[in-house]
Amino acid sequence: MLVEVCFLVSPEGTVLWSDRGTRGALPDSADRWRAIWHHRDELAVIAHTHPGGLLAFSPEDRTTMAAIDAALGRALRYAVVTDRAVLYRDPDGSLSVAADEPAWVAHLRAASAAEHNGEVAHGDSQHHVPGTLG
Ligand SMILES: [Zn+2]
Repeated sequence: MLVEVCFLVSPEGTVLWSDRGTRGALPDSADRWRAIWHHRDELAVIAHTHPGGLLAFSPEDRTTMAAIDAALGRALRYAVVTDRAVLYRDPDGSLSVAADEPAWVAHLRAASAAEHNGEVAHGDSQHHVPGTLG
């Protein structure tokens, strides 16, 4: 995994929305909040990756989860996905490691492994060297 990716997932396991952060962070985004609100009636799980492999909810994750639950008026299920495992936090606050990983987990890992939008960049930055001005 290279970058943190966030998925909003329906009860049926459909990925409703996704976005990407950077190697070490998934910054708060107004677009993500809008997507959460837009999909609030069909939203079951909010999952994000930890490319560093930490199978735990960070203090920032807990703050964000509390804010989302407060905004929606109900507690969602949350998931942290690493290369090796999936950690859930259920609406009652209990933590569990997934025994059976749903299909979207593989998609989330693949998205997280890619440098940009599902494709790994190959030295593409050389094509974008700014020219001299004027
Ligand atoms: Zn996290």
